Amino acid sequence: MSSETAAATVFVVDDDPAARESIRALALSAGYNAVAFRSGEEFLAAYDPSVPGCLVTDLRLLGMSGIEIHETLLRRGIKLPVIVVSGYADVPTAVRVMRKGAVTLFPKPFNPEELIAAVRQAISLDRKRRAYEDRVQNIRSKLQRLTEGAQRVLKLLVEGKSNKQIALELDLGLRTVERRRQQILQKLEVSSVVELVRLLFVTRLDPVSEPQAADVFGNSSEP
Ligand SMILES: [Mg+2]
Repeated sequence: MSSETAAATVFVVDDDPAARESIRALALSAGYNAVAFRSGEEFLAAYDPSVPGCLVTDLRLLGMSGIEIHETLLRRGIKLPVIVVSGYADVPTAVRVMRKGAVTLFPKPFNPEELIAAVRQAISLDRKRRAYEDRVQNIRSKLQRLTEGAQRVLKLLVEGKSNKQIALELDLGLRTVERRRQQILQKLEVSSVVELVRLLFVTRLDPVSEPQAADVFGNSSEP
C-alpha cells in the first residue's frame, strides 16, 4: 500500500447490498480502507470526522437521501468529499448535487474506473484540505502563545512599520520593540518580517479557492 492511500477510508452508503458490496470491493482493490453502511443514519452515527477519506453514497435510500447526508455533514461543519451515485440521475438532481458541493454525480450502473478516479480525486482533495487546516491551526496556536505586548508589536510589524515607528506608537523603548520583534520571529519560526507576513497570509487564505478545488467545495455556503 502506498503512502498516498495509507490511512484514507472510503465510506460507502447504499441500501442495495450488491451495490454496497461492489463499491466496497472496488475501494479495497484500489488500496483504500472501506466501510459500508445500509443507511445515512448509520453512517452519520458511526463517522469520526478525524478520519480522512471520502463518502460514496447512493442517492435514493430507505431513510435520508444521499443529498441529505451531505447536507447534514455540511451543517456539522464536516467537509468530507461526497460522491453521489444514482440510478435515477436526472439533470435537476445533478445540478442540486453539484451546487451542494458533492464531487460528482455518478449514474448507476457506474464505470468502475471512473468511480475510482473520482474517489482518488476526492481523497486527494480531502488530504489537501486537512493538511491546510493543520497548518493554519499550528500558526494560530503559535500566535495565541505570544504575549499581549508582542501581539501589539506584531500588528504594527505586519502593517510595515519600522521599529522606530512602533516604539513611538506604542510608547515603548526602541530596545523593547527590537526584543519583542525577535521574540515574535523566534516563536513563529520565521527569519524575517516578509516571511512572517507570508505566514499570516496563509491563515486568511481559503484552502478550497484553488481552481481545481473550487468546483467541489465552492458553494458549500449555499442556504
Ligand atoms: Mg438505493
